[in-house]
Amino acid sequence: MSTIYNFNAGPAILPASVLERAQHELRDYQRCGMSILEMSHRSPEYEAINAEAAERLKRLLGVGNEYHVLFLQGGASLQFAMLPLNFLPPGASADYLITGAWAEKAYEEALRVGQAREAASTAANGYRSVPSQADIALDPHAAYVHITSNETIQGIQWHTWPDVGDRPLVADMSSDILSRPLETQRFALIYAGAQKNLGPAGVTVVVIRDSFLQSASSNLPTMLRYATHVKNRSLYNTPPVFAVYMVNLVLGWIEEQGGLAAIAERNQRKAATLYQVIDTSGGFYRGHAERDHRSLMNVTFRLPDEALEKRFVTEASARGMVGLAGHRSVGGIRASIYNAMDQEGCDALAEFMIDFMRRNG
Ligand code: PMP
Repeated sequence: MSTIYNFNAGPAILPASVLERAQHELRDYQRCGMSILEMSHRSPEYEAINAEAAERLKRLLGVGNEYHVLFLQGGASLQFAMLPLNFLPPGASADYLITGAWAEKAYEEALRVGQAREAASTAANGYRSVPSQADIALDPHAAYVHITSNETIQGIQWHTWPDVGDRPLVADMSSDILSRPLETQRFALIYAGAQKNLGPAGVTVVVIRDSFLQSASSNLPTMLRYATHVKNRSLYNTPPVFAVYMVNLVLGWIEEQGGLAAIAERNQRKAATLYQVIDTSGGFYRGHAERDHRSLMNVTFRLPDEALEKRFVTEASARGMVGLAGHRSVGGIRASIYNAMDQEGCDALAEFMIDFMRRNG
């Protein structure tokens, strides 16, 4: 097998040991004579996976029974609607902090459902930072405050959480969940598509505080109510069994790595390797984010012109470094370095960046 360094933004790199384990177990899961793909979601084997994955996630997030963990479908995009459907009754309004393309999407969807306001936006600076506390104007009666912890497209990340007082704080953590220790108790609800740090596409994780759940609207179709999925432990209908099985293996891998503190330390080092090249390139590489707001997951930068960017992507790909083109809406380069990317991959990219600059600078 050739060595590939996978910098895709999502679906993204998975730990090799997890893929090997899944391959090993595929044909005959725990001597059942069949694969997990073929088993009933009501079987004891799948029940055990479902329960273990939820327990592992709670353990990593440092929460107990005051929170529920759900495995849902429809992606983070469905959460953009499900959140206001459940928590934005007529007459109420929610606050959104707009930090990039994904926060915009979440906000636009809330507006389709009910009333929402922009409590801050960094659009004016081209989404190079998250807002400072002084620039956040919260509605005292906001039903909740929504943030996007990491903007996957722009490559900016919240490094200290905004102070929202007593208002319920909700976060889309699709692209940085479990990348660092989390004060989970600060959040009323967290959601994340799995396809970056947690596993394959097809399952979305929701972590919801029980007291917040109690305030949800009950006047909704069954599948759109968080309460349905809490009551049925994510087994109301047929769940994406293979995706949840994979998430469970990835969660086990995170625990084996030493948990979130160890993962965070690795992630800091990896990101620093790339930002260091940008910062010492004399302007050849220009990082998109302001320094204090840089994402440790998606490193975004520009080259002097688009032709060079194209060549950069092509040459990198020929050397086995794939997935480096920036999102089609913003261009440039984006190196996504989620938990499963190791230091070696970042070292290889840093080396290539230096070499490319020498030849083209
Ligand atoms: N939020 C963020 C921060 C994302 O990065 C993405 C996907 N890249 C989404 C939401 C949308 O997720 P999905 O494709 O699972 O609906």
